[in-house]
Amino acid sequence: MKQTVQMKRIQEKMQPGVITRDGFLGTDRRNLVDILVEDDAEVRRMDLDHQAVARRMIELRDAGMRGLGDFITVEPHYEVRVDSARGKLPCPFGDPGVFPKTNTTVRNLNLDREIVYTDLNIHMILAHGFYEGKGAAFRVEPRDLVHILDIAPERE
Ligand SMILES: [Zn+2]
Repeated sequence: MKQTVQMKRIQEKMQPGVITRDGFLGTDRRNLVDILVEDDAEVRRMDLDHQAVARRMIELRDAGMRGLGDFITVEPHYEVRVDSARGKLPCPFGDPGVFPKTNTTVRNLNLDREIVYTDLNIHMILAHGFYEGKGAAFRVEPRDLVHILDIAPERE
């Protein structure tokens, strides 16, 4: 798919040192449009959409909030920790608002695996279907999210 001028501008804001020190793209050399298209296809192959993924991320973050920075048990088989750092970040897609620097760590005790995501990850997945570039510090693989957070397609 062709990268629009607007996408190109957004991708410039994702470079290291613009919004965050390390940027949002890692070692990914692809155009933003291709990153988006590929992750979208991956999520669809699992019979899900970005809203369903983000909803589950929010649910577990909210459940973990009452731990006030420590791991707490969340039924049926998770430990969740939510830590907040000072400061807020804007979204590189340029929509209004800023996002607190909140990291949520979810450990799935059944699988013995964990994943970390930020409030900005949640927003970018929900609003833009963006999981960050390969090799980015906060890249979240759609497949890992779905697996570790036990996200299942909704049955009609
Ligand atoms: Zn945004």
